[in-house]
Amino acid sequence: MNMGSRSQVQALIRRGQVSVNGVIVTTPKLQVEEKTAKIICGGVPCLYRPYVYFLMNKPSGVVSATHDARDKTVLDLLKEALSAQYGKELRGIPIEDIFPAGRLDKDAVGLMLLTNDGGLAHRLLSPDKHVPKKYYVELDKPLDEEKAALLTAGLDIGEKKKTKPAQVELLTPQSCYLTISEGKYHQVKRMFGAVGLTVLYLKRISLGNLTLEEGFLEGSVRELSEKEVESIC
Ligand code: URA
Repeated sequence: MNMGSRSQVQALIRRGQVSVNGVIVTTPKLQVEEKTAKIICGGVPCLYRPYVYFLMNKPSGVVSATHDARDKTVLDLLKEALSAQYGKELRGIPIEDIFPAGRLDKDAVGLMLLTNDGGLAHRLLSPDKHVPKKYYVELDKPLDEEKAALLTAGLDIGEKKKTKPAQVELLTPQSCYLTISEGKYHQVKRMFGAVGLTVLYLKRISLGNLTLEEGFLEGSVRELSEKEVESIC
């Protein structure tokens, strides 16, 4: 839980700085019931959570990666946001295991799920699970009914197969919602490119049952509620 290395934690235990259910422990061998034991480690409550889930509204200019030599990553942003909430060391959060579940281009904004739950990420992103992803898109030229019908039916974007059927909801002549159930590289931009349009602004607004709420500003991060986690699991 990011409370320290094995040897650092053993040293804390030997120094009497760890208590379990109100009793100071002095041996690292003690067995605990990890879901219910109240553990205080160096003054910090250690809440055992095997998995953590954070929702981010990714801003433009940030890359969907854990480390990057040049650009700020969603993990950098997550660490900043959590440090402000939990203190600089992020004790109790398995920060090194967290990764973005899915990609958004550097210039795209919107819903990003960050977790250490590899199984869930796989279930959400696997093409055969058909989890819908909804995007708000602004375009350089009007999207007419004919082009919308091509996007809806599925089209050739240079992959082996055509894109799967999608949903298009026109909002204004040059903006719409597009819902797809796949996640090919640059898929939304390539789909509009295939009908002669350029995406000027791209925002993911939902992923399965998760939706970005109004007022959850770019750069914001929050932990998912238990109910939300259940709904996506
Ligand atoms: N499709 C794209 O083209 N870019 C994204 O970031 C996500 C989907």
